[in-house]
Amino acid sequence: MLKDIGSMFEEELKEEMASLGEPAYRAGQIYKWLQSGIKSFDEMTNISKKLREKLVENYYISFASIEKKLISAYDDTRKYLLSFPDGEAVESVLMKYHHGYTSCISTQVGCKMGCTFCATGKSGFSRNLTASEMLSQLRAEQEDANIRISNIVLMGMGEPLDNYENVLRFLRLVSSEKGMNIGMRHISLSTCGVVPRIYDLAAEKLQLTLSVSLHAPNDQIRSRTMPINRKYGIDELLRACRYYIEQTGRRISFEYAMIDGVNDSDACAAELASRLREMICHVNLIPVNTVGGTGYKKSRMDRIKSFISVLEKAGITATVRRTLGSDINASCGQLKRAYKKEEKTE
Ligand code: SAH
Ligand code: SF4
Repeated sequence: MLKDIGSMFEEELKEEMASLGEPAYRAGQIYKWLQSGIKSFDEMTNISKKLREKLVENYYISFASIEKKLISAYDDTRKYLLSFPDGEAVESVLMKYHHGYTSCISTQVGCKMGCTFCATGKSGFSRNLTASEMLSQLRAEQEDANIRISNIVLMGMGEPLDNYENVLRFLRLVSSEKGMNIGMRHISLSTCGVVPRIYDLAAEKLQLTLSVSLHAPNDQIRSRTMPINRKYGIDELLRACRYYIEQTGRRISFEYAMIDGVNDSDACAAELASRLREMICHVNLIPVNTVGGTGYKKSRMDRIKSFISVLEKAGITATVRRTLGSDINASCGQLKRAYKKEEKTE
């Protein structure tokens, strides 16, 4: 079976070169080519034809093809449907902020977690993405939009901590100096709360931002909308979060989708505030995106304002997430509706 060469670290490439009877310095050259985003071994112009042939016999380079692209008429946010050679496809979103371009990438094809408000959760799980497939989403976007990405959020399809090994590998590759060199401080990872993996991640002591999708102030509401909560309840989750903050010194960002009549009362805000007391954190409120068949509706703006004011009075900072690309439904698993342009490319 061919090996996924684009997911390998330079050290691993050295071992591969040794097994092919090649000098170690080749590993550095090949690593650089791979991280530059080439799609075929023929593009490695400083590598002999003979070695390139050996590479073709033993490895493959993964890449993503653009199946569909939606560009927001409001703010140029681009949403891509990207496919891999096995026919599986994921969504990635490219957003422009004042400080540069942020890409929101997927970590799995689908998701096993089954959150009731989430389009990805409703579509089931197909497979994990490899590290190189995560990188290839960034490259496809950079090439298409002719820009450089400066920030990454792992908030697309899938649960990153349910694909832990590949995600960690991706983080190390994307932040490597010879690679895209995007520092950990420019990366956010969002999780629904896979508690044992939060402890593992804390032990890595990475400087990335952890976002935790909380979406409810108590187990009763959370277990109804997020099945993972039946396995790891809020107390256990927040204990892991406190440990994460202690270990990394990083502030956690709690995501809270505001769902009309479900989790948006002032009582919910007060309960949330008391749970988060004395934690170095920030609350990000997101008016829920309505997904067909769920019956969930966005909270009204006056409700959201009132919710924020309860949190702030309790000393917890909260913001409403700026919704980029709202006309193209640029969130988790819903590629559809109004757009300025639609293009199909090779
Ligand atoms: N699986 C991870 C990351 C991907 S989902 C997680 O759950 O955190 C990215 C974010 O979008 C999460 O905060 C998720 O709860 C949120 N989300 C999913 N569906 C949504 C919807 N319909 N409206 C608003 N936010 C949603
Ligand atoms: Fe999976 Fe996140 Fe969607 Fe839940 S919200 S189903 S964890 S992608």
